[in-house]
Amino acid sequence: MEAKPIDLKRCAIHTRTNKPWSLAECCAAYAKRGVGGVSVWDDAYERIGSEEAKRIIDDHGLGVPALVRGGFFTSLTEQERDSSLDHNRKLLDDAAVIGADMLVLVVGATPGMSLVEARKLVTDGIEKLLPHTEQTGVKLAIEPLHPMYADNKSCINRVAEARAVCERLDHDLLGVALDVYHIWWDPDLKVEIETLGIAGRTFGFHVCDWKLDTNHLLTDRGLMGDGVIDVRGIRGLVEASGFSGWTEVEIFSERYWAMDQNEYLDLIVERLKSST
Ligand code: ZN
Repeated sequence: MEAKPIDLKRCAIHTRTNKPWSLAECCAAYAKRGVGGVSVWDDAYERIGSEEAKRIIDDHGLGVPALVRGGFFTSLTEQERDSSLDHNRKLLDDAAVIGADMLVLVVGATPGMSLVEARKLVTDGIEKLLPHTEQTGVKLAIEPLHPMYADNKSCINRVAEARAVCERLDHDLLGVALDVYHIWWDPDLKVEIETLGIAGRTFGFHVCDWKLDTNHLLTDRGLMGDGVIDVRGIRGLVEASGFSGWTEVEIFSERYWAMDQNEYLDLIVERLKSST
């Protein structure tokens, strides 16, 4: 499926991508290059607060696809799980103030707990968040993570497992964030993207690349075009399935964080056009 040319106004960049910059520096630089949105990580506003963050973002006329990130529903004790739910409720409140469309959920996994048990806790936890989700109007997007994270970060690895939770809870404000880094290898990817799209459950689309010679699986992600993922092909599938939301650049990279961030951002914009 051939994707249409990218529209920068419908692209957003995660603040973590330009980690050395403050939220204000990110927003100014994105707006200057015609990038339409910013997805806000919690550390980007923790010192200034959500209202000041909203003011900065509005000053630059940017949209906010996502607040990143909530979740972590699989603690061993009920007390810890309750406190995690309270933290998620606070994040939903922040997302509402900031004007984020969704809160991205990294669902959690706990060493020693079976993945089946962990998935039950995830479904329970999300169900308990839904009333607050309705109050705030902020969507919840489950992000399946690559199976390398099944040990302690996410018991939801394939798109199908994220879809199963959505179908079980069947709520308009619950969907999935698709990140090419986590899903590109999935043999069912095409049919899963189509099924999610038809159900209107694809809420987010994150891009980066998987480098062949990666030296760290968390902090050596590639820029689109650096690696093996057919990012444009996946975008074509996602858009053909009915998704018309943002394309979000989310890259954690010590190598790119060490660069001059303005030069790096120019490269991101170039790769959005050439390789996304
Ligand atoms: Zn992501």
